[in-house]
Amino acid sequence: MTELYRHYALILASVMVIAVLAGLMGGWLWFTSSLCLALLYWLVVYWWHLAKLMRWLERPKLRNAPQGLGIWHTIFSVLIAQARSRKKRKQKLGVALARFNRIAETIPDGVLVLGSDGRIQWLNHLAAEHLNLDPVHDRNALLSEVIDQHALQQLVSSNSSEINTVQISMTTPQGLPRVLNIIRTPFEAQATLLISEDITAAEQLNATRTAFVANVSHELRTPLTVINGFLETLAEFTDLPKAQQQEFIGLMHKESQRMNQLLTDLLTLSRLENQAVTKVIRKPVNLSELVYQLVAEAENVSKQRHHFKIDIEPDVWIKGMAEDVYSALSNLVFNAVRYTPEEGWICLSLHSKPDQPDWVQFTVQDTGPGIAPEHLPHLTERFYRVDAGRSRQNGGTGLGLAIAKHALAEHGGCLSIESQLGKGSIFTASIPKWLGESVIEETFSVKSHNDIAVLDK
Ligand code: ADP
Repeated sequence: MTELYRHYALILASVMVIAVLAGLMGGWLWFTSSLCLALLYWLVVYWWHLAKLMRWLERPKLRNAPQGLGIWHTIFSVLIAQARSRKKRKQKLGVALARFNRIAETIPDGVLVLGSDGRIQWLNHLAAEHLNLDPVHDRNALLSEVIDQHALQQLVSSNSSEINTVQISMTTPQGLPRVLNIIRTPFEAQATLLISEDITAAEQLNATRTAFVANVSHELRTPLTVINGFLETLAEFTDLPKAQQQEFIGLMHKESQRMNQLLTDLLTLSRLENQAVTKVIRKPVNLSELVYQLVAEAENVSKQRHHFKIDIEPDVWIKGMAEDVYSALSNLVFNAVRYTPEEGWICLSLHSKPDQPDWVQFTVQDTGPGIAPEHLPHLTERFYRVDAGRSRQNGGTGLGLAIAKHALAEHGGCLSIESQLGKGSIFTASIPKWLGESVIEETFSVKSHNDIAVLDK
């Protein structure tokens, strides 16, 4: 401020000195005209600097910063320094905002800020993905107009100052179901924060677990009820004829075998599923030898009720776990024995794949009842049966093909099923071969399957 007064004093003094000198030399007229000229000069200087300032204020770019003389130099310097610090602050804010945006995008949940007018103020890409919104176009849109979910509207319109949650079901653009958990958090007086979590996988897992427990309970309850019934009868009627008692004991034994088989299959399935996440030691396995053993066991179980056609390529090796490969292939073979009626044909073949010599194919073809096309995609699901009664009667647990699929996948292989109702089925297991230089003799220590009883007598 003092600089400004000094500046005014200087102008006044210089104008007066010029005017007085002119007056002394030429009288009043000279005094007045030089006073006017001096004032005009200062006025022009002011206007010129003011015009510069106005021009710069309209487009305050630092590189076009105005230059001035005297007090104007001071004014421009102050303004430029302020502009510089504003620019730095803006840059810092920009960096902080970009950082915040990056953080918001890396949050594993969707975040959406809703204004008090119900309009979307801000959302991260996950919120847009969860709620099928467009992160750019749907900003400022009314939430009620872009999402038709009554539960969500109720959650948003509630005035509660507590954290509230709601579950909604959506459909993804690909037509898949999506379950979301939406949390409403008090945020500001003028805004509401919505957090969305995708809980589809957890919900599906929960549903699978519940269905699995229900299935296992159901599978165990049936034989237990039968055993209980016979035990009660035997306890109540102690004078039953010996032959009938023996018959009841035989039936109870059959049911207990079924429960035993179910537990064995459940343990195998659980082990196979755990192997997917734990490290297992894979060893070379002579698949041809394993299939020879399987053929012998199948013929034994069939008890000459079927005709067998066998075609096995010798010395085919794979790398893996003999026990699991045995589980996979034996389920296919024993299913053929179980479901093919007497005098039917069962053809077992082991060959390199014609179009992929590095792969081996084990095929089980039967002339059994065949399977209708609508069942084929579900056969490898746990407890899926085409005819539950028939499967149980045959001693099936409904887990055999699920085990086969898992065990083959464990070995990088796959299972394919072809079937024609009334004609028969072809189950093909494809596994990559082991082409190691030195083949280590590996005896596969699998438990004999002779105890698999064919119960349809
Ligand atoms: P299960 O223990 O009931 O045999 P699986 O998982 O092994 O269970 O098989 C699932 C269903 O597939 C069986 O219940 C049966 O309906 C059908 N299936 C399996 N193999 C055959 C086959 N060779 N011929 C006809 N149906 C079969």
